[in-house]
Amino acid sequence: MKILIAEDDLTSRLILTAILKKWEFDPVAAGDGGAAWEILQQPDAPRLILLDWNMPGLDGLAVCRRLRACESRNPPYVILLTARDEKGDIVQGLEAGANDYVSKPYDNAELKARIRVGQRMLELQSHLMEARDALVHQATYDPLTEILNRRAILERLTQEISRAKREGKSLSVGMCDIDHFKVVNDHYGHQAGDEALIAFTRRIQNRLRDYDSFGRYGGEEFLVIAPGSLGHSGESLYERLRAGVADAEIPTTAGTLSLTVSIGVAPGTGLSTVDALLAVADAALYQAKAEGRNRVAYAGVP
Ligand code: GH3
Ligand code: MG
Ligand code: MG
Ligand code: MG
Repeated sequence: MKILIAEDDLTSRLILTAILKKWEFDPVAAGDGGAAWEILQQPDAPRLILLDWNMPGLDGLAVCRRLRACESRNPPYVILLTARDEKGDIVQGLEAGANDYVSKPYDNAELKARIRVGQRMLELQSHLMEARDALVHQATYDPLTEILNRRAILERLTQEISRAKREGKSLSVGMCDIDHFKVVNDHYGHQAGDEALIAFTRRIQNRLRDYDSFGRYGGEEFLVIAPGSLGHSGESLYERLRAGVADAEIPTTAGTLSLTVSIGVAPGTGLSTVDALLAVADAALYQAKAEGRNRVAYAGVP
């Protein structure tokens, strides 16, 4: 593990470097706070810091305060090393953001033990971050298709309506429902049905623009949110999605199959509500199904 030593006294710095090497750490040395700060800005910077308090220029406390002022997902662990050992100083150091405090002259065994504590804290912090990222991912994405789940796509819709309001622009929502999907399951089995759902989402994704959103609304129903007006380009987007699905041969472990999709499109503005847009898109979808499926129906267009 890399450890940053920030210490202006050359002898102390060399001794610390030698000790850390002996303990099989990977020391990186800086002669003042400014140099330490530079090192900490680099990618892959050390995450544990032995920080001298008294240094010319930027001192240890200033480095601590700067570190804590930065938003970091995974902040470094700071052990202040200093000859100051009065109680008030300790409080000041900890309040500036140090995690721990060792008074000089330090006892080697104690220093090593405190570094180990820091190492354990950093490992714990990394594991917590990983667990949090995994939870956020689970709460956001559909496990089968890996696209946004229902909660996330509805949240996106709320955001896109707000954005349309701010920018005075419009948007559209396309409710997509795979046609006769039950037959696919009945004929090819549920596993092949799952594979077909994944292939379907990839085909839609490949035809969307960067700023469009796509999520799984329920079983074989999906939502597309397309910012911008439903003029000629909006209509051609949904037509492109429909055609992109109908044109495909989808290989599955139970054989090659094909799908079609019906899409109901609701035009919206910054004044729309999520519920109203969904209801209008759903009614248009019903119309597309009633008119024979494999088609796009636009709300308000008879
Ligand atoms: P329609 O054209 O009217 O939409 O007909 P449909 O058969 O697609 O509609 P229906 O609502 O009757 O059936 C939907 C089917 O989608 C039934 C359900 O088992 C299947 N389905 C939903 N989610 C999944 C899934 O995750 N995997 C698989 N394999 N099938 C799913
Ligand atoms: Mg000093
Ligand atoms: Mg359905
Ligand atoms: Mg269906």
